Amino acid sequence: MPLRSRTLLGPGPSNPYPEATVALGYPLLGHLDPLFLQVLDETSDRLRTIFGTANRRTLPLSATGSAGMEAAFVNTVGPGDVVVVAVNGLFGQRMVDVASRCGAEVIAVEHEWGQPVDASRVLAAHPAPKLIAAVHAETSTGVRSDLTPLAEGKGDALLLADCVTSLGGIPVLLDEWGVDLAYSGSQKCLGVAPGLAPFTISDRAWERRIEKPQSWYLDLGMLGGYAGEAAGSGGRTYHHTAPTGMVVSLHAGLGRILDEGLEAVHARHEEAGRLLHEGLEALGLELFAADGYRLPELTTVKVPDGVDSAAVRKELLERYDLEIGGGVGAYAATVWRIGLMGQNARPDTVALVLAALKEVLG
Ligand code: PLP
Repeated sequence: MPLRSRTLLGPGPSNPYPEATVALGYPLLGHLDPLFLQVLDETSDRLRTIFGTANRRTLPLSATGSAGMEAAFVNTVGPGDVVVVAVNGLFGQRMVDVASRCGAEVIAVEHEWGQPVDASRVLAAHPAPKLIAAVHAETSTGVRSDLTPLAEGKGDALLLADCVTSLGGIPVLLDEWGVDLAYSGSQKCLGVAPGLAPFTISDRAWERRIEKPQSWYLDLGMLGGYAGEAAGSGGRTYHHTAPTGMVVSLHAGLGRILDEGLEAVHARHEEAGRLLHEGLEALGLELFAADGYRLPELTTVKVPDGVDSAAVRKELLERYDLEIGGGVGAYAATVWRIGLMGQNARPDTVALVLAALKEVLG
């Protein structure tokens, strides 16, 4: 395979932080080695800081972001439970699918793509659901939704948030907001390769979980021993072989973020996103996501009339080693998605993509 260095400005994966890449080359540790367990504990601590939570059950699941989604539903809802899902893009749709497969009675509250979640409509969908779910940063549309009104109005329901594209890019304050469960993915703003799903669950959600979920691999009760819950009472137990190299890399990526400072990292994403939005508009292009709700780390832009979306992406990749994403669903050929995540949320990357787009569009 040829070694090619690409600039990954699609919806993820993004180019990892150098610290995370270097850590992938460290000597491999066994999954029950005390040194590795220390790294795992520290990784959970770092995740708590970045998620804005004190949840003791916070860990990187050994799979991609979708496993975080699946773990959340499979452990909390079963046949006949009412689940309300806010759908304003592809990942809300995926939540509906996953919850339905758990046998839940799912109410999907559909929104126009490109718009944020309307909490009043979601809360009015059912008087007493077991769980309400929403995507904080919809990667398919580039839209940010405010989760606080959902938390304030949730009543006795549990609130689940998809933070795959938000974590490490924009502020996530789960405890302050009142979110009970959340998951993310290592490959976006956390600046690590794909392969891990940071996950957190509150005590409140834990007490209501399904005793024996249909998934063995994602059974949080069984994962507790691996994640250190038993640490004080006799040590860790084997559940599955943790991908130790990936956890060591995530530990390094999170360390990099915390060394730079969470606020500084968010400000860097904010600035890069703003520069890109302004630059695209200066090129005469139109942004897709609703004004006021645009994510800095994932920008959706309309493909100009008469331009072949796929041909532009191909030329960017072949001539400039630069990857951007196409649209999703009905917008597959009419929208581009440009990610500025983690390491790539910098003014020089913005200048690069704007210059390359200008050249290719002529
Ligand atoms: N949720 C959101 C918002 C995402 O952007 C993604 C991936 O792009 C996922 C869930 C699924 O994550 P993964 O592709 O890592 O399984």
